[in-house]
Amino acid sequence: MSKIAIIGGGIAGMEAAIRLSALNFEVHLIEKSFILGGHVKNWHMLFPDLSSATQLVEQQKNQLRDSVNILLGIEVIRASYTNNKYTLYFSDGSSNTFDAIILTTGFKLFPAQRKEEYGYSIYSNVITSAELEEYFQTDKPLYTKEHRIAERIAFIHCVGSRDDKVGNRYCSKVCCVTAVKQAMETARRNPGAEIYLFYMDLRMFDRQFEDLYFQAQTQYGIRFIRGRLSEVSEKPDSRLFLKFEDTLLGKPLRLTTDMLVLMVGMEPAENTGQLARLFNVPVGNDKFLLPKNLHQYRNLTNQPGIFLAGCVSGPKTIGETLTDARSAALEVYNYLNRN
Ligand code: SF4
Repeated sequence: MSKIAIIGGGIAGMEAAIRLSALNFEVHLIEKSFILGGHVKNWHMLFPDLSSATQLVEQQKNQLRDSVNILLGIEVIRASYTNNKYTLYFSDGSSNTFDAIILTTGFKLFPAQRKEEYGYSIYSNVITSAELEEYFQTDKPLYTKEHRIAERIAFIHCVGSRDDKVGNRYCSKVCCVTAVKQAMETARRNPGAEIYLFYMDLRMFDRQFEDLYFQAQTQYGIRFIRGRLSEVSEKPDSRLFLKFEDTLLGKPLRLTTDMLVLMVGMEPAENTGQLARLFNVPVGNDKFLLPKNLHQYRNLTNQPGIFLAGCVSGPKTIGETLTDARSAALEVYNYLNRN
């Protein structure tokens, strides 16, 4: 029986493992942390249908058959290739040989403190979109760190994406619609709050995203301002003073808010460069792994038996990630049955 290693236990890794074990391959799912589910396990609701993220992860875990060998708390530290097989050497001192490998290590969130001018980790009421999403796991309204109910909240798009200064020119794809979804959820929890979204341009590209954007304006009164935030400072009462430019009107503006939410983008996961070196797979200018071809062979690499799935090859929505993982599973099947 052919043996497959899937490196990364987020939703892409789990989806590929589910599909390949259903095809009766011996599948080893390797995750460096002690829990499956990647970033999605920390998420509250998915856009655009507001379905439960926990439910998605739990459904996947339930579908992982007993035949999938799940290795948690393990990292690949070395790899070698002989006779069409890869031997992987693990951080616990063990090793194993595989016929094919899928890299599904996903992404990490942009560290918001790198945009010092936005005040993250300096001012207590500046938080990231990931922190807000975790907060939504509670049923509470949104409070400031001083336990005042937040009455005016601003969301800033493109934090760490489309930004030459931090070296990330690419768009992270999902943060526009996440901002709209989070703004609506904030409006539900804090009725009457004034909510502002500051964007460069809105990328509502997928099905029903525009509907969500329309609903945010008409049903929740959320205000969208095409503007660039230049600086944040804190007032003596801990409220935040924002200076920005309205790029449609070409005017400098100022706003005082109770909270500021930074829509942090995606960066390649910490170990992406190491995987690129281990398996001799190239990276793009954006430092995500490069597939063999951006049209026909998005799951293949320039190396035999090495495949990509999910955000390891660039930002993707959850729907795209799952489809990509199924596509990678099919490519592995074709590769192992090529004779
Ligand atoms: S999806 Fe929107 S917020 Fe995210 S990087 Fe792209 S344009 Fe910016």
